[in-house]
Amino acid sequence: MIRLANVSHDYGGRALLNGIDLHIAPGAFHFLTGPSGAGKSTLLKLCYGELRPSAGEIELFGQPLRGLSRDALADMRRRVGVIHQDCQFLDHLTLAENVALPFVATGRPVPEADLRELLSWVGLAGQAESLPPTLSGGERQRAALARAVILSPEVVLADEPTGNVDPEMSQRLLSLLVELNRMGTAVMIATHDLPMIRSAKSMVSARVLRIADRTLQTAGAEL
Ligand code: ADP
Ligand code: ADP
Repeated sequence: MIRLANVSHDYGGRALLNGIDLHIAPGAFHFLTGPSGAGKSTLLKLCYGELRPSAGEIELFGQPLRGLSRDALADMRRRVGVIHQDCQFLDHLTLAENVALPFVATGRPVPEADLRELLSWVGLAGQAESLPPTLSGGERQRAALARAVILSPEVVLADEPTGNVDPEMSQRLLSLLVELNRMGTAVMIATHDLPMIRSAKSMVSARVLRIADRTLQTAGAEL
């Protein structure tokens, strides 16, 4: 569904990623690790068309990103759910309104019953009317997950979804992502959270990728 072939990226001449090959197949579950600054967020942005690569080819759902019109790219992006590192909520809207935003952007009416069901799934039914600044870190992350999946994407890309939460909440977020994967959604999680990766191994057959020396490697036994 998402394919990177020999992709490189640099910011202002400084090489960050080099010769990256990656395929996110339907139903896949990948972790993406690597030290801070290695380029995990950058790789996710390349995967959903937020950034154009300096070199190499990217395909989203079988179509080359190169040459896609802005509208076609917007359509592709609706098929990819993204959990941003900083959640990116609008603080003057309620949690339910924030979660519904991707729907509002399509111009279609928000399916209220589906929205309520989604909020209960992430355990936030009681906070639907809360404003984002009043939420805890774990609540924000679960709301970000709900917003990422409200359009039933085929793949979810999560950037440090457990960055600001305790181990128990980290486990809960992982369980939600695994459940989503069992229903057929491909998942890729960029994370430093090695305990989460270890515990995932008993729940799902996940591939652990690591960015090191600007390249993408398969991590293994050291975890
Ligand atoms: P990670 O997610 O692994 O921490 P990032 O992809 O966020 O890594 O960043 C990798 C490197 O690229 C960092 O050194 C960061 O400062 C730099 N970087 C990220 N975004 C930009 C940008 N828009 N312009 C210039 N440098 C950037
Ligand atoms: P242009 O010379 O007008 O940028 P291109 O066909 O090279 O025409 O690129 C069209 C769009 O695709 C541009 O927005 C460009 O940034 C982007 N692009 C360029 N190279 C690649 C690539 N390797 N993979 C994906 N997108 C690319």
